[in-house]
Amino acid sequence: MTADFSKGAAFSDGKFVPAGEAAISVLDWGFTRSDVTYDVVHVRDGAFFRLQDHLDRFERSLKGLRLSPPSSMAEIGEIAMRCVALSGLRDSYVAMICTRGRPRIFGSRRPQDCDNKLIVYAIPWIDVIPLDVQERGAHLHIASVPRIASASIDPTIKNYHWGDLTRGLFEAHDAGADTAVLLDAEGFVTEGPGFNVFIVKDGEVLTPDRGVLEGITRRSVLELCGMLGIPARIAPLTSDDLASADEMFCTTTAGGVMPVSRIGDHIMGNGRPGGVSLRLKSSYWKQHKAGWHQTPVDYSIKTT
Ligand code: PLP
Repeated sequence: MTADFSKGAAFSDGKFVPAGEAAISVLDWGFTRSDVTYDVVHVRDGAFFRLQDHLDRFERSLKGLRLSPPSSMAEIGEIAMRCVALSGLRDSYVAMICTRGRPRIFGSRRPQDCDNKLIVYAIPWIDVIPLDVQERGAHLHIASVPRIASASIDPTIKNYHWGDLTRGLFEAHDAGADTAVLLDAEGFVTEGPGFNVFIVKDGEVLTPDRGVLEGITRRSVLELCGMLGIPARIAPLTSDDLASADEMFCTTTAGGVMPVSRIGDHIMGNGRPGGVSLRLKSSYWKQHKAGWHQTPVDYSIKTT
């Protein structure tokens, strides 16, 4: 029987398998210690967006954690391409993951003794904030739980240390909000579960300068602001800035530019997405169609 890749394809232990069949050992330190890094790139209308930038960030994350996957960065790019081609997906969420793996010597506690493991998979498109919620503007809760300290877990290394973000999500849902934004222990705005945040204040676009993953979508928005002549800045932001924002939006690979209409008790734009946010959202997708940072998927490379 031929494998069914229509719900996604994965590369694991050197083989291409349907995404749902890819697995890691319960003894892998990626699982037992969250000793893992990853990156996510999207495919929209049959083309990768900023593939090389995602590979470059993944490489920096790997170096930061002293991880060495068994494939080169160029090979990882080809594997990602092949996963998408196998799945046939035109819109896809493509993850590359490297775990510490398991020690070669039974019982060793030395990370140096582990064989690092690479997993790549392509699954159907995901929106971190559902489309109907994006349409009305997401309601964000300002979480009481602080973001994990950057000095302990470097947020610029993409990671699965999501304990604080998950607590923030529970708080948000208990409060009737869609998702959360977390402050650091000093009260500065950081990010949310799976996205960077921006505010618009007096025509200027601002995004936090600390405690965040340097999102590729965040970078794209800053570049788009330059192209559109919208003033934009990376700056320290506090909850007072959120409470006085004219507009707010979130950014992520799995969703793009996602407008926010409420932050805590503060309702913006009569509870609808703001004009600058909508302009950036539309420009983001228009630029995709115009070929900006696109790498077309070669769907002919289907061999496993
Ligand atoms: N911040 C966190 C914690 C994330 O997990 C993500 C994406 O998953 C982002 C920000 C957005 O980054 P990017 O735009 O590169 O997807």
